[in-house]
Amino acid sequence: MAMIIKNGFVVSSKETKQADILVKNGKIASVEENITEPASEIIDAANMLVMPGGVDVHTHLDMPFMGTVSGDDFETGTIAAAFGGTTSIVDYVIPGKWDNLKRAVNKWHKKASGKAVIDYGFHAAIVPPVHKAVKELDYLLETGITSIKCFLAYKNTLMLDDAAFFNLLEEAAKRKILVCVHAENGEVIDYLAKKYLKEGKTEPVYHAYSRPPELEGEAVARAITLAGIAGAPVYFVHLSSKQAIQEIKQAKKSKKKVFAETCPQYMLLSENKYFEKRFKGAKYVMSPPLRKLKHCDYIKKSLTDGLIDVIATDHCPFTFRQKQKGLKNFSLIPNGIPGIETRMPLMYNEMVVKMGMDLSRFVELNCTKPAKLFGLKEKGDIKPGKDADIAIWNPDLIWKIKKKKLHENVDYTPFEECVVTGKPITVLSRGEIIIENDELKAKPGRGLYIKREKSSFS
Ligand SMILES: [Zn+2]
Repeated sequence: MAMIIKNGFVVSSKETKQADILVKNGKIASVEENITEPASEIIDAANMLVMPGGVDVHTHLDMPFMGTVSGDDFETGTIAAAFGGTTSIVDYVIPGKWDNLKRAVNKWHKKASGKAVIDYGFHAAIVPPVHKAVKELDYLLETGITSIKCFLAYKNTLMLDDAAFFNLLEEAAKRKILVCVHAENGEVIDYLAKKYLKEGKTEPVYHAYSRPPELEGEAVARAITLAGIAGAPVYFVHLSSKQAIQEIKQAKKSKKKVFAETCPQYMLLSENKYFEKRFKGAKYVMSPPLRKLKHCDYIKKSLTDGLIDVIATDHCPFTFRQKQKGLKNFSLIPNGIPGIETRMPLMYNEMVVKMGMDLSRFVELNCTKPAKLFGLKEKGDIKPGKDADIAIWNPDLIWKIKKKKLHENVDYTPFEECVVTGKPITVLSRGEIIIENDELKAKPGRGLYIKREKSSFS
């Protein structure tokens, strides 16, 4: 049956206009003024913004890491995403030590099916030894996984050496697979971390000191060089520093196929969080780490300069209790923070309310561009033919972010007490209301696996 969302300000990646949206069979059928077609359901969106649901292309749900498992599974994680106006995610499959890619992908399907409330796709991380994974790249494509991730950090676990990384760049280029890169110099980080620990410097702030921004800049530059030789487009995940973005700037200037992702935490939180008393600095331990304020400001400015392509979360929550593993040694603190629920409201507040940016640019960075880059053909914009994944926002609602009001399955939020303007009130996924008046209407398991197409940029 048809549904009409009436009288809202519809924001697409191109324009904002007052219009109605006709939804049929889970798809957007038309976007026009005064749609009169008979419909079983009418949603009145007067004075509301009607935007595409968010697309978060960097999540880690139910992920084993550093001897523990991230707090949100596909049920709690996608519910939290939905409350925050996000209607699709792409999660990273990370193979365990004895897994081939096929096995790892199957594990991830088991984690997600029957649980997710929104649609989801997968990327696949390639961990050493690489030669086995290369043989499985075609399998990834067949199964709808069109991007891989390479780590240049986490020595002795996930990190690839330059030859292995280059090998993957070449193989990915042949197949038009988009290569996502975690760019930090893992060798030197390992050296610095050991040095600090030997000197008895064990507190959380040494996590940041062992990963200076120059080591991110260096790894970004190296990856751009290697990708250039191999003829492969590259996508940098979670960029956190001025040094890194400056490398992106150079590469974009010379028309290289280089794409940049950042996350709200790298714009809104800074390094002084690591000095919070009673080990609370551990709550902010993630890689790359939080930086000095000048980096945050530089990244914000880069949003308007067109240097950033995507805002994602790197949602990977560990409880404060799990973080205690590193009480006497910062290098044992599980890396990661929650953010899947707060991304869209925080960025709306920052970009639109505070910086006065165009609504379409907000939509582009948080919905449209990530969908295009990662081949989520039906997602990320409001136009006829797309899935009716829609978030209806009250743009004037002022509220305070508090852990106890969020749905992420973790005991804190790094954004506690942040006051934001604007909130998604009603959220639709494929035309079905999944959130209404701050209440969950969806059943776990309704979310579908998205067999992704190849990136429209590779
Ligand atoms: Zn990540």
